Amino acid sequence: MKEKKMKSPTKKKADKPRCGLCGKTKNLIKTECCGNWICDDEHKYVMFSYARNSCSRNHRRYTLCGYHYNEGHKGDWKTCKKCRSDFEPEMVVWYGTNEYNFEKMPDPPSFTPTKCSKCGQVIVLGNGGYAHGPDGYTCGECFAKDNRRK
Ligand SMILES: [Zn+2]
Ligand SMILES: [Zn+2]
Ligand SMILES: [Zn+2]
Ligand SMILES: [Zn+2]
Repeated sequence: MKEKKMKSPTKKKADKPRCGLCGKTKNLIKTECCGNWICDDEHKYVMFSYARNSCSRNHRRYTLCGYHYNEGHKGDWKTCKKCRSDFEPEMVVWYGTNEYNFEKMPDPPSFTPTKCSKCGQVIVLGNGGYAHGPDGYTCGECFAKDNRRK
């Protein structure tokens, strides 16, 4: 039997795994959805705080990659038609291009910005802090004003 000579790769820099989102090198796990290194920090999340301080939670909850995997879609999330039809275009763009992604959607759909039905202010859906009712979207300020009046 011929002995295969294993060429040891001569990598100069030590390829330490790093969280693909924040760059930390400690307590990493691989994401189930895309196999990238990410902080194993889900425990840091305080229930119902809606804080976005956990890399793994952010990626799982706020990206199409995580959604696509959780929903059991086939193929690549970047070209998945289901993902695109499950959200309004603005959210598809946000989920597909925000900072919680390892890879950004190469061809995000175009969308018209959402505006407050009361004051006309542009509402960034991805940032939260708005209300959605029968009249459409209401910005946080108008919503608060309305509730005070009642
Ligand atoms: Zn991280
Ligand atoms: Zn992923
Ligand atoms: Zn999908
Ligand atoms: Zn408003």
